[in-house]
Amino acid sequence: MVSKKSVKQVLAEDREMDFEKFRKDVEKVDKKINAVRSKNLEIKSKEGRLKGLPISAKDNICVKGFNATAGSKILESYSPQFDATAVKRLKDKGANFFAKTNQDEFGFGTFSTNSAYETPKNPYDTERVTGGSSGGAAALTAALTEPHIALGQSTGGSISNPAAFCGVVGFTPTYGRVSRYGLIDYANSLDKIGSLAKTVEDAAMALDIISGHDKKDFTTSKKSYKGLEDVPAEVDGMKIGVPKQYMEFEGMDERVRKKVWESIKMFEDLGGEVEEVSLPKVGKDFVIPSYYITAISEASTNLARYCGMRYGLEDNPEKKSFDDYFSEIRSKGFGKEVKRRVLLGHFARQEGLRESYYLKALKVRRLIIEEYKEAFKEYDILASPTMPITAPRFDEADKLEPVEVYAMDTLTVGPNFAGLPQLSVPCGTVDKMPVGLHLLGNHFEERKLVRAGKAFEKSFGQIKRPEVR
Ligand code: GLN
Repeated sequence: MVSKKSVKQVLAEDREMDFEKFRKDVEKVDKKINAVRSKNLEIKSKEGRLKGLPISAKDNICVKGFNATAGSKILESYSPQFDATAVKRLKDKGANFFAKTNQDEFGFGTFSTNSAYETPKNPYDTERVTGGSSGGAAALTAALTEPHIALGQSTGGSISNPAAFCGVVGFTPTYGRVSRYGLIDYANSLDKIGSLAKTVEDAAMALDIISGHDKKDFTTSKKSYKGLEDVPAEVDGMKIGVPKQYMEFEGMDERVRKKVWESIKMFEDLGGEVEEVSLPKVGKDFVIPSYYITAISEASTNLARYCGMRYGLEDNPEKKSFDDYFSEIRSKGFGKEVKRRVLLGHFARQEGLRESYYLKALKVRRLIIEEYKEAFKEYDILASPTMPITAPRFDEADKLEPVEVYAMDTLTVGPNFAGLPQLSVPCGTVDKMPVGLHLLGNHFEERKLVRAGKAFEKSFGQIKRPEVR
């Protein structure tokens, strides 16, 4: 029987957590869903507000004592000797990090099917994908019946997307809110660490702990942080914009559209004001090419360090030219999608072409940010579906061409590209598969997202939890 209590409520009850039950829960569900990359179930009660609460981390986030592969063969034996700042802050409050979760290699993907290791499966239907790239994090969060929170990471939607497909809450903060120290980079100007949980309250509690300036990451903001704890569950007087370009996204499942419209209308019943708004620059034709060019350009430079000398798989370089040695290691260590992105990323940045690709993408990014900023002068938050479809079956996902997969990210890529905070909240099911409602806020306005997210949850309730099959 799944408890409807939030982790925060359980912690507040001041009872010992049942770690034995938790261990059994992990062993049982993970056999079915392959969410865990590595684990250590020696967990116990600890001092501090979290009292030993089990927390998992996506495998690109460094946790001392666990390998951090980022889903790649090239980092198979990388064992960081330090904790990421987000991890350290949670440990300082008494968290137990017990597992690293499966993901797309370096975060490159939409379904978590681009991993060098296990492919996580959707707990609602194990024939279906979890979404990506934090697929393991979302699947584990949905499947465990015992208290647990997950750390995930998003570049272009990797928290919101799997949260929506697996029916959990995904909270992506404003870029710079949470330190990236100890995160294996995908694209530095885009990467964000955030939280996944069963309720808005729990995801917000984790975000409160990990947020704030860190002198180890100079891109973290020094803005004062008010915290999300006392945010009331109400949308009274809030203006909610619904971007037309999102609702009219070509290829959206009609049933998803309908479900999300019904959910957005609930805000009206709760005292909010809902209005459609046209944001032409956040549509597919602008955001997809400019995001992907930017993301892979940054990724291709970040991945240059995995050459078999300083980082990555090693072999014997004797009697080989550097070029041959590096190519050998990289051919062996990188998967297909990584190779594609490294090649395209170099192409977009090369002399003679960078004006037309990389630099142009940066200009488009500026226009996209301006368009959102303009909208936030009028609206408190924006609302849309998180993903245009529910989780596809593995065989359906396999048939898609890379560009078709990239296009599916349209609704999550824009806000990530602009560094905006986002909250994906489960808002129902279609054919028993979860649908996510995506709430977007202005920079550093996470509190508004929590207000609306909690209000929605309070009036809608929670979706049925999966019986892992
Ligand atoms: N699907 C997007 C990509 O492949 C986003 C992934 C992410 O946020 N890490 O770039």
